[in-house]
Amino acid sequence: MQGKEVHLGIQLFVPTFDVEACLDGIRECLEKGWTGLGFKTVEFEEAWKKYTGLPHAHFLNSATVGLNLAFETLKEKHGWADGDEVITTPITFVSSNHAILLAKLNAVFADIDDTLCLDPKSIESKITDRTRAVLYVGLGGNTGRLEEVAMLCKARGLSLILDAAHMSGTRLNGENPGKLAEVTVFSYQAVKNLPTADSGMICFADGELDEIVRKKAWLGINKDTYARSGGGGTYKWRYDVEYVGYKDHGNSIMAAIGIAQLKHLDHDNAYRRQMARWYTEGFAAHSDKIRLVHVPENCESSRHLFQIIVDRRDDLMVFLNENEIYPGVHYVDNTQYRMYSYAANTCPKAAYVSDHVVSLPMHMRLSFEDVQLVIRKVIEFFEK
Ligand SMILES: *Cc1c(COP(=O)(O)O)cnc(C)c1O
Repeated sequence: MQGKEVHLGIQLFVPTFDVEACLDGIRECLEKGWTGLGFKTVEFEEAWKKYTGLPHAHFLNSATVGLNLAFETLKEKHGWADGDEVITTPITFVSSNHAILLAKLNAVFADIDDTLCLDPKSIESKITDRTRAVLYVGLGGNTGRLEEVAMLCKARGLSLILDAAHMSGTRLNGENPGKLAEVTVFSYQAVKNLPTADSGMICFADGELDEIVRKKAWLGINKDTYARSGGGGTYKWRYDVEYVGYKDHGNSIMAAIGIAQLKHLDHDNAYRRQMARWYTEGFAAHSDKIRLVHVPENCESSRHLFQIIVDRRDDLMVFLNENEIYPGVHYVDNTQYRMYSYAANTCPKAAYVSDHVVSLPMHMRLSFEDVQLVIRKVIEFFEK
């Protein structure tokens, strides 16, 4: 199933595709002459709703555009004003926070806890009379204290947006964590747990917003108006345009890959959790130097990431690179970037994690021996 293996050391992420199943799905599109919106995109949406138990799903060309659409749509729906506030985390990929700014809202940063997700107490301390929403990121697949955050949002009348880019396959109390949010956005980018090449899914709790986002994601076009008015096939060109939208919807080629890969998601994630157990056991005797991220009991994490918190992080990264092991950092504290620098030094735990966190290699091609080698090299660095 996999191509010729070139020895590249131990990489952080390498996606593994069910090549034959992906090609079968793509071939179906090509033979049918339907590679665009519809056909496989609808099939994938149905499969995703069934898999997650979420009531609505619209397939997009990335999670980034999904986050942009989430804020734009909720802002209109709830009548938020420019400059209203969204509480968010500094430890995320910038597309989470850019979505707030692009909707002309203010990103207010709260601090994280030992799960590396937002701390409910810190969120509470940042609420003002202009707060409208919380953007919660399930970092590495961890649900953190999402249930508490959802209760807090409910009690304070705030919208909850879940960036579930890392959370394909994560379960909280056995269910999809998206059930707690007003809108959940998943990523199927090239190295996420359900890899395509680039695509994502936006899942609104409210069916009305799902309908709106289907139009917005295709330049605001509403194909239904005239289809319903009885013209049938003759008036296909006669659609209405309800919004000034972008071109954000996904296509059938990406969806075909998604459908093929979804069949492997639970199995892949189970192996990721196995690797996480190997790492956890391997570092158990070294907890003074190598600290792990807390994953609550009721969270079955997708384990997109396995992260450790260490001193001399940058030296460790260099040492591992010299040994042909290539870890990553998720993420640099976003308040270090110029557009968020107004919030610099407001989240000390996030700032600390930004300087001390390492993501260790985590993908389906790693063997038990590979994981043991990474563990040995990390420990060797601290014993030098
Ligand atoms: C990857 C990622 C995104 C963006 O996903 P794309 O599909 O690449 O647009 C958003 N948030 C987080 C936390 C991510 O890791």
